[in-house]
Amino acid sequence: MNTYAFTSIQSLKDALTKKTLSSKELLELSYTRFNQYDSLLGSSLEIFEEDTVDKRTSVGLLGSIPGLIKDNISQKGRLLTCGSKILQGYKATFDATVTQRLQAAGAVIIGRANMDEFAMGSTTETSAYKKTLNPWDQSRVPGGSSGGSAAAVAAGLVSWALGSDTGGSVRQPAGFCGIVGMKPTYGLVSRFGLVAYASSLDQIGPLTRTVYDNALVLSAIAGHDSHDSTTHVRSSEDYTTNLTGSLPEGFTLGVIDNALEAPGFDYEVYEALNKSLHEFERLGARIKRIKIPVMDQRDTMASAYFMISRAEAASNLARFDGVRYGYRSEQSQTLNDMYQNSRNQGFGLEVKSRILIGNYVLSAGHADEFYKSAKIVQAYMREELLKAFKEVDLLFMPTAPASAFPFGAYYDNPIQVDLQDYFTAPANITGIPALAVPCGFTSANLPISFQLMGPDFSEAALYQAAYAYEQATPWHTMHPPLYKG
Ligand code: GLN
Repeated sequence: MNTYAFTSIQSLKDALTKKTLSSKELLELSYTRFNQYDSLLGSSLEIFEEDTVDKRTSVGLLGSIPGLIKDNISQKGRLLTCGSKILQGYKATFDATVTQRLQAAGAVIIGRANMDEFAMGSTTETSAYKKTLNPWDQSRVPGGSSGGSAAAVAAGLVSWALGSDTGGSVRQPAGFCGIVGMKPTYGLVSRFGLVAYASSLDQIGPLTRTVYDNALVLSAIAGHDSHDSTTHVRSSEDYTTNLTGSLPEGFTLGVIDNALEAPGFDYEVYEALNKSLHEFERLGARIKRIKIPVMDQRDTMASAYFMISRAEAASNLARFDGVRYGYRSEQSQTLNDMYQNSRNQGFGLEVKSRILIGNYVLSAGHADEFYKSAKIVQAYMREELLKAFKEVDLLFMPTAPASAFPFGAYYDNPIQVDLQDYFTAPANITGIPALAVPCGFTSANLPISFQLMGPDFSEAALYQAAYAYEQATPWHTMHPPLYKG
């Protein structure tokens, strides 16, 4: 049965249709693999009891295919902790739209994935509950904040997982774990039922081992939702139809040259990226080297993300006060004490520091200097990136400046962790879609990833280009040796 562990959704569906595999066997396989590996890997916060799992149908886009949902996405009646102690014991009272849509597509949701607390982090180390290991090297982080989702898929425990991406949280862990991760256009996927971190940047996105599978999951969850007024009024699309293995006629890929000159950029990553560009050329792409001036303003860009995300986080997290949701401190004498103690005991350090910074940048006398300036930088970045798409079809960038780093590598230097977002946050700040795709390994056998970015709602084009590249290269067929048994 373990032979199916790394099988794509596409082939699993085939096996189910031909009845060489039954839905029950497939579900058993996932349970067996979680039992075998997850006490060490730490990808899940909970695997649901088998008899409580909804297995309504084997038809539909994801009929009978088991997967995992990041623990900031509501599943009715299930715990919803966001990796935080403050939500310990809290049960979701309704299904997120994506949860509903996955179930309608026949998917079998078997658990909740570990994550950085409230999706704040790049390593999954800020989870209040457990550590998630990188399946390629257990002394290293899986990336974050959707580290549990990425690790489970890369280690062959499930073939899909959902993450959320506010500044890179789907793409960076996908990159660190050697799988595919999509941050859709802002407004393509409903945020109804996603616990907000920074509402104007958050999007839910799929993590899978192949491009085709990713397109399949996005097809199931995308589309307008009357519960989220920021979703775009578009009918849902089948993102798998363009996956022919070739690039469109006259396809031009833009390389943001000055982004590749970023300091601290790992040489092995740089080399793998150049090889990928040659592969695109061989597939018929025209490569156009361009400069996007704002990418030189590393500090300005990082600050814009920093300000906007903290400001929105502080406002969103104000609702966790011990009254309505989750944890309440019992030792308090007055109402104010109760608020203070619940928040102080319930939130971890990273979250507290972001709330403090967020309230500061929004406070009277500072809002113009910080928050409003950040919004100006945001508008400027969007203008510059959109201008680039007049000359090229898609843009090419690294996903992260280096491969997965050891646990604790940046405990003394948290700013270095924030710089992880340099390549990924621009897509969130500007709202455009971006897709992380595996493109090789370092000499230490750690995955390397590039990112394709396109104009608003160009997901189909991103998948088409990524699929052509994937089919011409071996990376998606490689899996972490420790988990092959
Ligand atoms: N690493 C980034 C942060 O900590 C991104 C997180 C995310 O996308 N949720 O803010």
